[in-house]
Amino acid sequence: MYKSEYLNRIYNSVVSRCPGEKEFINAVEEFLDSMEYLVKKDPTIEEQAILERIVVPERVFQFRVPWMGDDGKIHVNTGYRVQFNSAIGPFKGGLRLDESVNLSIIKFLGFEQIFKNSLTGLPMGGGKGGSDFSPVGKSDNEIMRFCQAFMTELYHFIGPDTDVPAGDLGCGAREIGYLYGMYKKLTKEHTGVLTGKGLSFGGSLARTEATGFGLVYFTSEMLKKYKNDSFKGKKVIVSGCGNVAKHAALKAYDLGATVVAMSNIQGYLYDENGLDVYKIKEISDKTINVIDEYKKLHPNVITGENKHDIWKIKCDIALPCATQNEINLEDAKELVKNGCKILAEGANMPTELDAIKYLMKNGVIFSPGKASNAGGVAVSGLEMTQNAEHISWTFDEVEGKLKEIMKSIFNLCYETAKEFGEPENLSLGANVAGFLKVKDAMIREGLV
Ligand code: GLU
Repeated sequence: MYKSEYLNRIYNSVVSRCPGEKEFINAVEEFLDSMEYLVKKDPTIEEQAILERIVVPERVFQFRVPWMGDDGKIHVNTGYRVQFNSAIGPFKGGLRLDESVNLSIIKFLGFEQIFKNSLTGLPMGGGKGGSDFSPVGKSDNEIMRFCQAFMTELYHFIGPDTDVPAGDLGCGAREIGYLYGMYKKLTKEHTGVLTGKGLSFGGSLARTEATGFGLVYFTSEMLKKYKNDSFKGKKVIVSGCGNVAKHAALKAYDLGATVVAMSNIQGYLYDENGLDVYKIKEISDKTINVIDEYKKLHPNVITGENKHDIWKIKCDIALPCATQNEINLEDAKELVKNGCKILAEGANMPTELDAIKYLMKNGVIFSPGKASNAGGVAVSGLEMTQNAEHISWTFDEVEGKLKEIMKSIFNLCYETAKEFGEPENLSLGANVAGFLKVKDAMIREGLV
């Protein structure tokens, strides 16, 4: 598998210790791929058992979340919080609320978060949590009761200097509000223990927009460096219609791109002259029936039910912003065939490993989510700073800092990749640069 005996040992230990955890094993495999050269060059990594340690979470919590439906029926979900690595700062990462959630998915996301957070340059360790509860189709009261029940367990493990959760898929401002309210009731403290809060109780301006805007800023840097170009006049596909997707589409449009296609769980929308992304945002803020509602207003738009078909559409830039594993090898072949030049991930690991390899081999410049979608957690870090100082910055101040952070993440990934002789390999750059800071902290802090 790997050239290095050490890497094979690590990989095999994860496979045998975590049977069935395919998403987590995949994330480790992708990361170890980037470590070949480094482990050869720097023997302290093996001597200090850094990789042995980094693939095992510091702590994992799993708990029961019982809550009552509006009809008086009792429901039971499983809650998770994986505190993966706190070498460079308090654990930090979102809470995913989706039926698909299991320990493997939370571990995969928590593992990725270690390197993503490190790349932001802010002092944040890696963690992730969530539950196999989905807010879709639930009433507001049911969501509130679920969030309150979830927090009565979670509050034991978190704190503004210990572990700071935030939103993720299915967990937006509404859920964070309910979670925060219960935390405050239980602890009697108003602190920056969660990020993505409402503006009226300590949230940061531009947090909602941050991941999508950050993705487009990052992609602009890719266009500039590799193609001496910009978003102007480019055809862009954005998959998803959630928070990340809609803000990525808006920013790409504002920078002069034509967003030709977007999607959601019901299918996709395609208009070669460009979608009305402001309308899509307006609709998706209110309902999940984006495809039907948009078609009512624009009857000529082309729609399809198979979400993979979105990757058959001609584009210059693909921004997958829905969820993990949405681009497989077949999709990658379609993208290459249709002339896609850049793929930057807005979701966490939307592209499967063999698809990434195919894209890179065929001249598509690829950016992993841990680099290009780090804008969300970066502004979460800025929210923590504002909370600690009891101040709030203006939208422009936060957006300006976000832009600088995304630029510096790109430069760090690019320079690192270049140093290793593969300037177009941003996965290598992101994994190595993210890892080096964590490794340094782990060594300096001793065997803990
Ligand atoms: N869930 C987001 C991510 O995957 C944001 C996490 C945060 O703000 O802590 O990075």
